[in-house]
Amino acid sequence: MNLLTTHNVKLGNMVAFSITPVITCPGKSKWCEKYCYSKKLEKIRKSCRIAWENNYIFSQGPEFVEKINLELKYHDRPYCRVHVSGDFYINEYIQKWIDIAKNNPTIKFFSFTRSYRIPELVEKLEELKDMENVSLLASVDPSHDYIPQGWKLAIVNEKRERTIKSFPINDEYQRVVSDSIHCLEEKFIEDNGLTYKQIKKDKIPIMTCSKCKVCIQGKKNVHFNGK
Ligand code: SF4
Repeated sequence: MNLLTTHNVKLGNMVAFSITPVITCPGKSKWCEKYCYSKKLEKIRKSCRIAWENNYIFSQGPEFVEKINLELKYHDRPYCRVHVSGDFYINEYIQKWIDIAKNNPTIKFFSFTRSYRIPELVEKLEELKDMENVSLLASVDPSHDYIPQGWKLAIVNEKRERTIKSFPINDEYQRVVSDSIHCLEEKFIEDNGLTYKQIKKDKIPIMTCSKCKVCIQGKKNVHFNGK
């Protein structure tokens, strides 16, 4: 069984790891419960649901760190995206990623999390966030009642029409969105009037995370308009 994947068009030259969404997301917000992309995907793609479930079960076992170490070595990619689906669900699991990052100092790990909203997970998450080869951004959306301090942010753009209808927007939220940069991959697709269907069909090269590196470097706040 392989835990890591290598074929995500948006990510580019990197491996990725995912687990079952929602049950592994203790910091989930009203907004993400409503719009969670992974939840939708696992309903239409049985293969994703099964792979994420298997990964979730394996992540709780004693061989997880060693297996990920072996796969990272095998794939030999410069970057690892942790959680295209899922989140850091308990401290023991966060510790496993701290161990993996320590074991693989030449690989840069990056992830977005809402688990900073759970007080008992914050200390361990900050230990992971502060590692040299880790970039961990706090996901924020308009349903949040506070913006975390001391974190770089991944922000859902409040200009999304459906979001405005659903949730109130406060001044602090507007300020962090206006101080952030628009995800380069989304911007590329919007500026060129492309759709993912077209990109796949015509094999159009797009901006990928491994080319862009903004979130991998973790020095700027980024916002996402969403599709
Ligand atoms: S800003 Fe760059 S690195 Fe971040 S999600 Fe968008 S393309 Fe990927």
